[in-house]
Amino acid sequence: MNRSDVLIIGAGPTGLVLALWLSKLGIAVRIIDKTSEPGTTSRALAVQARTLELYRQLDLSDTVVQNGHKVAAANFWVKGEPVARLPLSSIGEGLTPYAFLEMYPQDEHERLLIDRLEAGFGITVERNTELHSFEQTGDGVTARLRLPDGQEETCQACYLAGCDGARSIVRKTLDTGFPGGTYQQIFYVADVQARGPTFNGELHVDLDEADFLAVFPLAGEGRARLIGTVRDERADRAETLQFEDISHRAIEHLKVQIDKVNWFSTYRVHHRVADHFRTGRAFLLGDAAHVHSPAGGQGMNTGIGDAINLAWKLAAVLTGGASAKLLDSYETERIAFARRLVATTDRVFSFVTAEGRIADVLRTRVAPFLIPKMTSLEAAREFLFRTVSQTTLNYRGMPLSEGVAGHVHGGDRLPWAHDGEGDNFEPLKDPTWQVHVYGDTSDEMIAWCTEHHLPLQVFDWRPAFEAAGLARNGFYLLRPDTYVAIADYSADPKVIERYFREREIRPFFG
Ligand SMILES: Cc1cc2nc3c(=O)[nH]c(=O)nc-3n(C[C@H](O)[C@H](O)[C@H](O)COP(=O)(O)OP(=O)(O)OC[C@H]3O[C@@H](n4cnc5c(N)ncnc54)[C@H](O)[C@@H]3O)c2cc1C
Repeated sequence: MNRSDVLIIGAGPTGLVLALWLSKLGIAVRIIDKTSEPGTTSRALAVQARTLELYRQLDLSDTVVQNGHKVAAANFWVKGEPVARLPLSSIGEGLTPYAFLEMYPQDEHERLLIDRLEAGFGITVERNTELHSFEQTGDGVTARLRLPDGQEETCQACYLAGCDGARSIVRKTLDTGFPGGTYQQIFYVADVQARGPTFNGELHVDLDEADFLAVFPLAGEGRARLIGTVRDERADRAETLQFEDISHRAIEHLKVQIDKVNWFSTYRVHHRVADHFRTGRAFLLGDAAHVHSPAGGQGMNTGIGDAINLAWKLAAVLTGGASAKLLDSYETERIAFARRLVATTDRVFSFVTAEGRIADVLRTRVAPFLIPKMTSLEAAREFLFRTVSQTTLNYRGMPLSEGVAGHVHGGDRLPWAHDGEGDNFEPLKDPTWQVHVYGDTSDEMIAWCTEHHLPLQVFDWRPAFEAAGLARNGFYLLRPDTYVAIADYSADPKVIERYFREREIRPFFG
């Protein structure tokens, strides 16, 4: 019988990234999808800075940046006039190598991931292959697949990853609840070829009416994505709506002259988080685990984050580098973020689409006044960037996180520090455990790391490290996904030894 280490259900961005990471770590994966070909529509556009940072481990960041579009600014419009402009081209300067807002349509993104999977690891997505059912046994999962020729195949895997989207059969089979709700408004998305002042490569948002409309620039002259809401009785017949049926009030406010509609679709947005992200040997990731409004461009990025969080843990357990207890941390770390995200995107979405006099006044009078004031403050811009880019996402206070040194806590993303002499993210390209020291360390630490083949990076102390909040002469133990496991002021390797022992982690060093 066909047996793989990990059987991945679904070849959307989440499943593809999981397959890439596991393959890079030497794990045998099988990835199936019930569709005959990858998606051909643009869907999620924003690739957040944190995703790009983590994509360095797969050598993907440069290609995404080169092929995508950097958004220079976000503009807010009221009554047909631009009222506020937020420059974005270097909004996160000094915080990350990817200090901008990157647009890269999901269909192109998926094709890139598929190409890398095939070229780099010889793995092909098995198309027209559908998960029918599965059950867990003591030491694995037995799954029944429906193959392209209509036959059924029974296969086995050590673990099963449900990356099968919002209607996940994996989630339904596990009988995991998916509490939350569905917004009353219908979203429409349209990829268009058009003209007008809003087709200048920048992002434009109409604050006027509750008919929310945003124009997202795409790479290429005159190409953009319109995202808007449909309300009233038309929302009841969303499936049959055409572009001509939607309200053109907001489109006219933004002075958009449409030449061609390349793709139009409507969809209903839900806000839900699964009760559990793991049941035994089966996991839920991406839209199968959480769905929310597209406000802030977080959905796809969060699925990719789930995949990266789970991949190194599965690899460690499958190669004997950790006990299965490590897998518990997947749900703890990711469900907390998903719940916060759903709550935040819900507030933003409710604000931009709220109806009534007070909502109109807030959007058309108060917001245009407040947005320029807030965005003129560096601290406000930094807060906005850190939140949206997912660079503040952290696992503080959770079981794999320990200590604090400088401004950095166990569980944080390692802050980026760079100057003319170098960049502390360079060694992170290797998805392994590693120790960073900024300044000096003890002979014991050097000897212990050498003996255990644990990569140790000692950076000569420089002002850039202090500015980034790193502690001098302490150490940071980093996980394979580059989050800080231990932040400690000492130079004592026993702290690392105890950390691994208590968590039953036996990293395979080198
Ligand atoms: C019209 C539209 C517009 C969107 N716009 C945005 C946006 O602007 N911004 C944003 O952040 N997000 C947007 N999204 C959401 C975004 O596309 C998702 O968050 C993202 O695709 C989630 O990725 P995923 O890999 O988790 O799931 P999916 O992309 O849904 O992939 C799941 C895969 O699993 C496969 N599958 C399902 N069941 C089975 C089975 N039983 N057996 C085998 N295969 C199976 C499916 O065929 C699919 O390929 C949009 C979505 C849609 C539909």
